[in-house]
Amino acid sequence: MASERTLAIIKPDAVAKGVFGEAVLAIEKAGLKVVAVKRITLTRRQAEGFYAVHRERPFYADLTAFMSSGPSIVMVLEGDGAIGRWRELLGATDPAQAAPGTLRQRFGENIQNNGFHGSDAPDTAAFEIGFMFSGLELA
Ligand code: UDP
Ligand code: MG
Repeated sequence: MASERTLAIIKPDAVAKGVFGEAVLAIEKAGLKVVAVKRITLTRRQAEGFYAVHRERPFYADLTAFMSSGPSIVMVLEGDGAIGRWRELLGATDPAQAAPGTLRQRFGENIQNNGFHGSDAPDTAAFEIGFMFSGLELA
């Protein structure tokens, strides 16, 4: 499997719960590496830009309000099949549907406040990493 990079976000609800360490533990146990990390409170405009792909969806306004409601921790993860592997660690979007032991099942509250984000494909990973990090931070 090829080495990939993906964008992970510990969303404001999960940062408030203090489960950043649990996420890093799961990441490192899965053999992935954190190659960049920072804590950032997104502005509403930044959250709208990040989730622009969802701008026509009914949940867009609530989602972007939530994502700009407090600090997130954003990370770039690297490793073999990192995109799919991180999505597997997260579980389904809705914590109630997420497999037992996944991060969203353990720490998510509801389909919006689901604790964590992961890129879903190589092209979205490239966009999302470039949105959150500068080239210097990824050197
Ligand atoms: N979301 C929501 N309501 C929905 C579906 C999604 O509030 O009905 C939020 C949720 O926080 C999710 C994000 O929008 O993580 C992006 O949705 P997507 O379908 O891309 O899910 P993901 O890729 O995060 O699993
Ligand atoms: Mg998505």
